[in-house]
Amino acid sequence: MNHDRVSPDRTTARPRSAFPIDWRTVNGSGSTDLSVLCGFLDRSPTPWHAVDTAAGLLLEAGFEAFDATDTLEATSTRCFIRRDGSLIAWTIGRDAKPTTPFRIAAAHTDSPGFRIKVHPESVRAGCRRLGVEVYGGPLLNSWLDRDLGLAGRVLVETGNNLEVRPILEDRPILRIPQLAIHLDRGVNDNGLKLDRQEHLQLLFGLESSVGAFIDHVARIVDVAPAAIRGWDLAPYDLEPARCVGGTGELLASARLDDLVSCHAAIEALIRCDAEDVISVVVLVDHEEVGSATATGAQSAFIANVLERIGRSVGADRDEHLRALVGSHALSLDMAHATHPNHPERHDPNHVVHLNGGPVLKHNARQRYATTVTSAAPFIAACDAADVDIQHFVSHSEMPCGSTIGPVLSTTTGIPVADVGVAQLAMHSIREVCGTADPGRLERALTHYLSHR
Ligand code: ZN
Repeated sequence: MNHDRVSPDRTTARPRSAFPIDWRTVNGSGSTDLSVLCGFLDRSPTPWHAVDTAAGLLLEAGFEAFDATDTLEATSTRCFIRRDGSLIAWTIGRDAKPTTPFRIAAAHTDSPGFRIKVHPESVRAGCRRLGVEVYGGPLLNSWLDRDLGLAGRVLVETGNNLEVRPILEDRPILRIPQLAIHLDRGVNDNGLKLDRQEHLQLLFGLESSVGAFIDHVARIVDVAPAAIRGWDLAPYDLEPARCVGGTGELLASARLDDLVSCHAAIEALIRCDAEDVISVVVLVDHEEVGSATATGAQSAFIANVLERIGRSVGADRDEHLRALVGSHALSLDMAHATHPNHPERHDPNHVVHLNGGPVLKHNARQRYATTVTSAAPFIAACDAADVDIQHFVSHSEMPCGSTIGPVLSTTTGIPVADVGVAQLAMHSIREVCGTADPGRLERALTHYLSHR
């Protein structure tokens, strides 16, 4: 197997005097893996862009794009289907039969943040502002005083048609200015309190100079303002992903949760060498808002596509259901590393290290789907790939988060283990993980997806 683009373990010593470091490529071996990951993160500010970026990697690797309404043929062995902010890609093993099981790696394309309202504009104190809804559970404070671009998709009227066009405005056109400390003297002691309606309005510019927001959007997509019939638009941080720390051993970026997993899964699928197994990567939207949508992890989309893949290798209904029984899945989502400044929030016997290897997540109430039987194939894959595993269990007085694992196992009946790369500052506009862990996850996934 070719692991040229996979970053090696960072246990080997790096030269200490490596300044000036190329912060986007440093990873100890001169391989370009981190720059590929950084590019993936930077080009994917919304779920729709994440799917575009993933599709680009798959097409480059020779995968065939199918429309969700196309017939899948027996010859369709390396393919993907995309639907809005979700994508399912697969390879059929060379010895696959109608009862051949699936190996599935699933991750989510969305990240917490904001969505710009339908009628967003208001003017106050000479400033043009845009109202937003909060999407998911962002750390609101982290969005203040940042240079924000604009991304998403716009519904445009062209003649008698309505068409969806993507937007990626990578200039700092938006900002949420913080209140000066002189006007909020207690903020450092009492904590920051933000009213979601009033205090998160995006500053778009001065009324006297900037013009209406819809005119600006119309110029970007090159239509008259009256031709804009709808939008899904979000602000995003323009700061690019980069390595940080004394030797560049950490990676700071927006949307590590969960684009690190999306990227690792896609790269592993491209590299995997499947025999009697059908290897599937599922990237789904809407995890941060509960997954109960037409393209979320709770939708019939996943089960339907699995059945259609089964039929493309000749499975009837009974054979497909038997294939599902033998199948396994991973729910890939970022994990909490133990915070060095807040160790009391973590279980002292389950310290999770940055760059300590992928994390298996456990919860007795099944907020994570991991059991000994669902975890076994991943443990075996890590052993085969020579990758260390860490274990996360919540502090017993802390509420446990959740992710797509329980949903995926419920809707498909397939045993799922919850796994992820350790990070700090989850749901901040700028999160941080170790630079070695994404490559390790990718290596383990390549084994996981190749064998039954
Ligand atoms: Zn997540």
